Amino acid sequence: MRITIFGTGYVGLVTGACLAEVGHHVMCMDVDQAKIDRLREGIIPIYEPGLEPIVAHNTAAGRLQFTTDVAEAVDYGELQFIAVGTPSDEDGSADLKYVLAVAGSIGEHMNDYKVVIDKSTVPVGTADKVREAVRGKLLERSADIDFDVVSNPEFLKEGAAVDDFMKPDRIIVGTDSDRPQELLRELYYPFNRNHERVIFMDVRSAELTKYAANAMLATKISFMNEVANLAERLGADIEHVRRGMGSDPRIGYHFIYPGCGYGGSCFPKDVKALAWTAREYDYEARLLDAVEAVNSAQKHVLFDKVSHYYGGDLAGKTVALWGLSFKPKTDDMREAPSRVLMEKLWAAGASVQAFDPEAMEETQRIYPDQPGLQLCGTKEQALKGADCLVICTEWKEFRSPDFAQIAAAIRSPVVFDGRNLYDEKMLGRHGLSYYAIGRGLNQ
Ligand code: NAD
Repeated sequence: MRITIFGTGYVGLVTGACLAEVGHHVMCMDVDQAKIDRLREGIIPIYEPGLEPIVAHNTAAGRLQFTTDVAEAVDYGELQFIAVGTPSDEDGSADLKYVLAVAGSIGEHMNDYKVVIDKSTVPVGTADKVREAVRGKLLERSADIDFDVVSNPEFLKEGAAVDDFMKPDRIIVGTDSDRPQELLRELYYPFNRNHERVIFMDVRSAELTKYAANAMLATKISFMNEVANLAERLGADIEHVRRGMGSDPRIGYHFIYPGCGYGGSCFPKDVKALAWTAREYDYEARLLDAVEAVNSAQKHVLFDKVSHYYGGDLAGKTVALWGLSFKPKTDDMREAPSRVLMEKLWAAGASVQAFDPEAMEETQRIYPDQPGLQLCGTKEQALKGADCLVICTEWKEFRSPDFAQIAAAIRSPVVFDGRNLYDEKMLGRHGLSYYAIGRGLNQ
């Protein structure tokens, strides 16, 4: 099948590459000329395990092309995916300007039947707005061309995006008519070999499914962070509590890890957008508001612990920071807890020596020439001359460090762990104090 994808970010590029990998012919379009130029040279703009060889191989095979030419892109595919960003507007609602701009372009340039597919995460009712945007442009041209709008939200996880796309738990397709349903069935047929993974439903239910799933995951995290904060005050260890809770199959072990808050490009904005939609429909989503409030507060917990340890005086202190990305296996820094921590440390007069296996370039881009920030080539270098160590991201290479080396390198014998990676006794053997999330009275 011939497919066009608008937006070559995490979702668009992975979708395009994986659809080409199963034999479809894909054209990826982006307004970012530099990105398209780099992709044409085989340079992948993001860190995503396994993506580079798939892009290279399918580009060489002629199944994957990149363009900035919108007319060429619209002309190319019968299926037109919209995979552009939907950032939070100032009021927390999802900003649809990129989505509607693409829809307008499709209406402006299409000359035959198209299925317009919303892959971006968009609020309930967006398919209607997309339909209006396409129709509006067709009317301007006095063109009478048939099209359908489908909701097909994406569930891939950054860091495991290729695997998630190639072996999805489910593919949600929201459509109210037969023709696009048959086309989407054919599109996803290669992903259905073991068992049927496509779940068809109406458009509005599909749109809500994506928000509900993300909000549920965010709720689990905020719930655990709330219990962790309580455990800390009650003298209990959240890690014991977590294991005890997870052993109940009705609860399960997934997504109940306490930490220094969730970040990324999805959970924060999607929880806010769903709460905003609720308000628009005169419903106060009290649980969603609380999930967001708990998470915002949680991003300050590490700073509070460091500040408390030094009696509120951080001026002139140097903090070694391991982990900058919002989670492991990605270079994505959007809404990362590390950013809140670093910005508070700088404001308090401290400086940061940071290391991350993948997010250094991105950090440099976000904080160019930032006084008080030194990016270090290794996690060991980050320790040199620092007062203490703080961990923000649970990269595998941080899990079993040389504690003796840490103790020898930092001035104050203390580690603050926003991801509960270690055991207090292990650090104690090296004379290190350990402050983590929700682990007893001394925290
Ligand atoms: P991104 O910011 O990485 O990429 C968006 C791309 O769209 C950019 O390259 C931008 O230049 C391009 N763009 C903007 N306007 C355009 C236009 N008019 N025509 C063509 N390209 C245009 O975004 P992302 O992380 O891939 O997310 C895209 C959507 O998918 C969002 O709605 C997001 O919520 C959703 N989503 C993201 C993830 C994730 O893990 N990142 C997972 C599931 C769903």
